[in-house]
This record gives sequence, C-alpha cells and structure tokens, in this order.
Amino acid sequence: MSDTVLYLIVPCYNEEKVLPITVPLFMQKIEELAEKGIISGKSRILFVNDGSKDKTWDLICGFAAKNARVIGISQSRNRGHQNALYAGLMEAKDHCDITVTMDCDGQDDLNAIDRMIEAYENGAEIVYGVRNSRKTDGFLKRFTAQGFYRMMNGLGAEIVYNHADFRLVSARVLQEFSAYREVNLFLRGMFPLVGFKSTCIYYERKKRLAGKTHYSPKKMLALALDGITSLSIKPLRFITVLGILISVISFFLIVWAVVVHFLGMTERGWASVTALICFFSGIQLLSVGVVGEYIGKIYLESKARPKYIISERTDSEKES
Ligand code: UDP
Ligand code: MG
Repeated sequence: MSDTVLYLIVPCYNEEKVLPITVPLFMQKIEELAEKGIISGKSRILFVNDGSKDKTWDLICGFAAKNARVIGISQSRNRGHQNALYAGLMEAKDHCDITVTMDCDGQDDLNAIDRMIEAYENGAEIVYGVRNSRKTDGFLKRFTAQGFYRMMNGLGAEIVYNHADFRLVSARVLQEFSAYREVNLFLRGMFPLVGFKSTCIYYERKKRLAGKTHYSPKKMLALALDGITSLSIKPLRFITVLGILISVISFFLIVWAVVVHFLGMTERGWASVTALICFFSGIQLLSVGVVGEYIGKIYLESKARPKYIISERTDSEKES
C-alpha cells in the first residue's frame, strides 16, 4: 500500500455541461488508484470553481456532499485558468505529497496519471504531460500553437514542447514554488525554473466531451504575450540591437544625403524620404509598444495584488 497522497486539481469555469460527464470518471480513477494501492486513501479531487456564472459551483457542492473524496473551493470571481490552477496548487500543497492538474473537460487522459505517478516513484518531482499529436486541433490552432512553442524556446524560455497544464508536481516543489512572488502567472514556463528532477510522459489529447472552449484567439494571444514577457527580456534586447543597426544605416544615409546635396541632385528623393519616415516611425511605435508591455508588467507586479481569493469551500473540515 502506498501512502502517497494525491490531489487532483481541476479548474472549472462555466462547465455545467461537462461536469456531470467527467466527474464520475475522475472519481472512478481515484478509487481505482487507491484500490490498487498506488495512492493513499486520503487522496482527493480538488475542484476550483473560477467564479462561474452557471451551476458549476452547485454541481461541485453536490458531488462533494455525496463523495468524501471530492472537495471544492470557489474563487471570489473569475480570475482565469492560470490563477485558478495556482489557487488549487497552493491550497493543496500542505495536504498532499503530489498534485496533478488537469482540465475538467476530459481532454487530458486520466490513464496517463498512472504513468505520471510511476515516474514520480522513480524520482521525478515534476512530470510534464506532453500531447503526442495535434490531431484534435484545427489547422489554425495547430499552426499558431507550434509556432508559439518554437518562438518561446528561441527567446530563451525553457518550455516543454507541446506541454500545457497537465502536469504532476510534488508538494516539495510547490513549497519552493510558493516563494515565486510574481503575479503574472504562466505556470508551464515557471515550473522549469524551479528545477528539480523532471521528466515527460506522452498522451493522446482528446476532444472536449461537452461545452465549449474558453480560449478564444484573443485570449490565446494574451496568454502567449504574457508567457513571452514573463519569461524573457529578449524582445527588449532585440530593440536595442535594432536601434544600433538602424543608427549605423542612418549614418551612411546621412553621408549619402550630404554627398547628393553637394552634387546638386537634391530635388529628387521625395518617395525615398516618405518611405523612410513611414518605415522608421513604424519601427519606433512598435518598439515603444514592446517597452510598454514590460512597463505594464512592472506596474502590475509592483501592486502585488493577491493571486487568488477563496470565497467558499465545500467543507472546511475535510481540508485539514
Ligand atoms: N478555465 C478556468 N478559468 C477560465 C477559463 C478556463 O478555470 O477563465 C478552466 C476550464 O474550465 C477548463 C480549463 O481551464 O477546465 C481549460 O479551459 P478550456 O478547456 O476552455 O481550454 P482549452 O482546453 O480549449 O485550451
Ligand atoms: Mg479544454
């Protein structure tokens, strides 16, 4: 019998359609693992309601009332997927040995958890779930997502290719992780920074069982920008290099302009001047924008607002 306590952390936002389908699957999995002696009987499924506007929280309370293995916490308002995961992880870290975070829509493969725990038993403190194909994604999502992972690595952020938020993390890592004070969360990029022994397991990502995705193209772009600006300052350095390059080019352009002037050919060149002005003002605006992104981040970090606020719990006794 293993005494490893597992907390399965499942963020939910407006998921009343999918929870009745997936929660029984989650419960069955936990029972099975406990029966086989792979995890302790004290293991729990921790649902994090991320300020849902539908019946999600009522459903979670209902499941918790019926099954002692289910507990739920509710955020005071919607804060987004990353903050919901963070809330779950921080709430769980003092009650368990390992956590596994997964979507509530059935996309992450429950059967991969066995292999994650096995990897943990073999010494890994973080086990990244990596999807082995993007067959269930549309062309645009596949193209942009893969481009994003490549770009992130190009910018020097260590993120695991094709890994999202299906991940086993030990309580030991979470204790260290809780010292990371930043409020802009991009968890998949932050865990590699914490270090410790880690490994990957591969799984097939399925289609959502019901309901709709919450990640619109706009939200995905926001997550990507957050990821880049929280993990890398290379865009700033790129601007500096670009500035130097343009200054060098400008120097030669000035020499050229003076020479042309003395040769008496100055009435030519309206088109080239206009083109240059447009080009350089575009680059300048873009550069100011990039710098602004980082200033925005500093602004938010300096406020250091709480990363999550719990307003309700299914049962505070069960937590302790
Ligand atoms: N989610 C959340 N808060 C949000 C948006 C999403 O807690 O503001 C949860 C959602 O309920 C799901 C997970 O995060 O369990 C992933 O969201 P979704 O399935 O919509 O994203 P996708 O899998 O399509 O990328
Ligand atoms: Mg999903």
